[in-house]
Amino acid sequence: MKHQAIREQLLETVVKANEVGLIRLSAGNISVRTSKNLAAITPTGVKYRQMKVDDISIVDLDGHLIDGLAPSSETPMHTAIYRDLPEVGGICHTHSSYAITFSMLEEEIPPANLELFACGAPIPVAPWACTGTQKIGEVTVEIFKSRPDLKVVLLDKHGLVAIGRDLDHAYEMALNAEVGLRTYHQALVVGKPQSLTDDQLEEIKAAYSK
Ligand SMILES: [Zn+2]
Repeated sequence: MKHQAIREQLLETVVKANEVGLIRLSAGNISVRTSKNLAAITPTGVKYRQMKVDDISIVDLDGHLIDGLAPSSETPMHTAIYRDLPEVGGICHTHSSYAITFSMLEEEIPPANLELFACGAPIPVAPWACTGTQKIGEVTVEIFKSRPDLKVVLLDKHGLVAIGRDLDHAYEMALNAEVGLRTYHQALVVGKPQSLTDDQLEEIKAAYSK
């Protein structure tokens, strides 16, 4: 089978993401760049708990199927990001609870904790674009291009998209974002969360750079 190792790695990430509730049933999708012009991506309509290695789709960056089952309906967003952001090696798109919750408010998320900071907060909500369209790729790419440190964007009334230099990095960013948003929500329920100050942000950057 072509791209065996990378498909196995992608399926492992799918299992992990399913276990922690980042993806469920067939909602959300994950991909990894396999070469300059190819990517492996979760197939459409297959429940994550039942997915097998050879189900994983291999597509070119125009979205044409090379091998495996028919790719995710959200492939156009993934391929747009890989085409326009050559440093991106992995993408994790989730319909996770807190990402959906905050995407509905259409308000930027401040760097209120270390998890959100790690994602490059403030985290913006992309302008509305329907799932499965080219437009959702365009609005997402535009934001990531204008904010080189940003790793996570919320998709309006939909979820989040996390990018990384490789698959593990993208997965970590998606998980950080969901944990950061869940705890931010909890703080909003019990009080008024304070964003990290500029001085605190500088301290954290210095600590992480060591
Ligand atoms: Zn989606």
